[in-house]
Amino acid sequence: VNQKRVWEGVRTSRPETERLQFTHDTLGQRVLFGRGLARENLGAEVARLGSIRPMLIASPAESGLAERICADFSVATWFDEVVEHVPVEVAQRARAVASATEVDLLVSVGGGSTTGLAKAVAMTTGLPIVAVPTTYAGSEATNVWGLTEARRKTTGTDDSVLPVSVVYDAELTMSLPAELSIASGLNALAHCVDSLWAPHADPINKTFALEGARVLNRALRVIAENPHDPSGREDAQYAAYLAAVAFASAGSGLHHKICHALGGAFGLPHAPTHAVVLPHVLAFNAPAAAEPVSRLAAALEDDDAMAGLDNLLDAVDAPRSLRQLGLAKSSLEEAVEVVLPLIPPSNPRAVDREAVVSLIGDAWSGALPRATVR
Ligand code: NAD
Repeated sequence: VNQKRVWEGVRTSRPETERLQFTHDTLGQRVLFGRGLARENLGAEVARLGSIRPMLIASPAESGLAERICADFSVATWFDEVVEHVPVEVAQRARAVASATEVDLLVSVGGGSTTGLAKAVAMTTGLPIVAVPTTYAGSEATNVWGLTEARRKTTGTDDSVLPVSVVYDAELTMSLPAELSIASGLNALAHCVDSLWAPHADPINKTFALEGARVLNRALRVIAENPHDPSGREDAQYAAYLAAVAFASAGSGLHHKICHALGGAFGLPHAPTHAVVLPHVLAFNAPAAAEPVSRLAAALEDDDAMAGLDNLLDAVDAPRSLRQLGLAKSSLEEAVEVVLPLIPPSNPRAVDREAVVSLIGDAWSGALPRATVR
């Protein structure tokens, strides 16, 4: 039945008003993908880039893992002060260490916070990054940086922060607890969904986004059922890359602007915040984005995108409310104020104060999203 619905939407010709017209930039990056190959691939990349004084950026929590995969080369210095949302003071300390020790390469081993710190150093030093991700955040495949100062998170794009190489090894994500894995995978799914209407959405990045969503929909269920099954991890990692490429190209849409504002202002955990906010943004935008949302439904193997997402969130026992993540009710007014100025003007549906109040209110309480696709 689902397949029939999908095919009914297919047309063979388009009206002239719907002609294909877009400008698409493809970011240049080398990706080495292989389970169990991180040590070998990382060593080869460090040698290929001619680095003799690499700086390792890895938090104490990832130290065992980092030591294992960096065993084939010597590290000039190891910076391990990794803090979520990259506080400016931490970035400055890392930059000072990089110049004092005259490093020639940044090797980041960790989740999005670690990659984010390496990007902050690359931004001012011009040093290349080899990223080894250990979550499904996807920062390694984007030219987006983020820094937090005085409770406000600023993000921007700069090609010099895009890692020159990424070493993907799903084995490195096996130790990520199931709950964090699911939240991180839903962060990747948010990259896919938001790419459908982000400022630079185009047919190429939508293709990456929809394929990412299709693979994540299956992989996250496998991880939830058995976090030790490497196939779920491998698929999630592959899809996280597709998602991040789509996001890097399409830009930040409504969903990302909301999550970044909330993360910066209230220190909410990044990935779970994405998981909570996503259905609310999908429900809000879906009526104004019928074509990509019907394709998202197909990717989620449902005839309704909202129902498909809801079903996935239930199946993986995703977090459902900002209240559950620690946002105080008394912060809701401020939350609306920090989000409002960031709303992308290109959002397919106009977003006024009332809409933000109701969207954030629902996300806070865990109420079902108000508008549905049906
Ligand atoms: P994170 O890097 O903060 O990691 C979350 C937790 O998981 C940490 O405690 C970490 O030590 C632990 N962890 C990481 N890998 C592990 C592993 N393999 N096994 C066990 N524990 C592990 O979280 P994240 O969600 O990966 O990244 C969030 C940050 O990344 C945010 O600051 C966000 O803004 C940024 N981000 C940026 C982009 C971008 O394009 N610039 C994209 C996505 C996320």
